[in-house]
Amino acid sequence: MSCGASPRDHHPVRRRRQRLLPSLALPRRLPEFPILIDPPDLSQWRAGNNGIPGVIERESPVPGPEIAVISLIHGNEFAGAAAADRLLREDIRPLCGTLRIVFANMAAFERFDPSNPTASRFIGEDLNRVWSNDRLSQKPGSVEMARAQELLPVIRRSDMLLDLHSMLWDSSPLFISPQTERSITLAGLLSSQADTPFLTLTDLGHVGGARLIEQEGFMAPGGTGRSVLLEAGQHWRPETVETSARVIRHFVENAGFVHWGSRGEPVTVSRQAMVTDNVVARSASFGFTESYLGGQVIEKAGTVIALDGDDEICTPYDQCVLIMPNLCVRRGQLAVRLARRL
Ligand SMILES: [Zn+2]
Repeated sequence: MSCGASPRDHHPVRRRRQRLLPSLALPRRLPEFPILIDPPDLSQWRAGNNGIPGVIERESPVPGPEIAVISLIHGNEFAGAAAADRLLREDIRPLCGTLRIVFANMAAFERFDPSNPTASRFIGEDLNRVWSNDRLSQKPGSVEMARAQELLPVIRRSDMLLDLHSMLWDSSPLFISPQTERSITLAGLLSSQADTPFLTLTDLGHVGGARLIEQEGFMAPGGTGRSVLLEAGQHWRPETVETSARVIRHFVENAGFVHWGSRGEPVTVSRQAMVTDNVVARSASFGFTESYLGGQVIEKAGTVIALDGDDEICTPYDQCVLIMPNLCVRRGQLAVRLARRL
């Protein structure tokens, strides 16, 4: 299925196969991804220091915004937690206001097994699909729902939130922001730093449920909460830890400027793209025509990037950005998202 806006210059994303094209013989099972970093030792942060386990609070004597850095929403994505752990040990502090560093799904993280590294993403359900007020008001039916409810007061208090993630397949880092001007400004400020010049993506959300960055305070028209998600690189590579650490520093150092609007000149958001299509595999034989990398740009509209049963999947416009192609996708799963540069 593809969905999204269809401006007149859009080529169709899916059409009947028009010519014989080989698709890559891609593995039907996940390849082995090397684990090049160790899970961090988070034992000293487990109890927390503000009454909620896994939440470390640091305050500045100077008044300012309440900001939150969230790691381990997905238990097997511990590069962000490793960066947060290092910065806490270095005694990172906010320049003003309050900083809270959160280790979200510790229960799943503690089950990490290098011989089956993707299994500890969550225990009962995806912690990044439960953040609608409707879901959060129900009786928890999983470890993750109970944890979301426990963390909710911290989330609701946050004027600004950075949610740290990483990716299974090789991909350039990117920021994902809700489609509010205030959050796009925050993402734009992070991506305007010389050493974190990543694409900022606004998207259509996830059909499976609301993500943390979509919690009501960050989405409400007329509200003030800002949120941004970082996809920092491949889950288990050392450079993903370094990228996460740089972004956390920029976030903490610039929070006051963003909050008070005292940066001088408005931030220009130059590297921005919008997801126009979510391509879901309809057949069991979905295959890309090349082993594309996340963030790769396809120059020409109408380029066939994948075959799906009797269909071809084509880029709908020039300069199409492939977001997190899943090279081992199964029927019914999201194969790739297509984004248009703004
Ligand atoms: Zn994630």
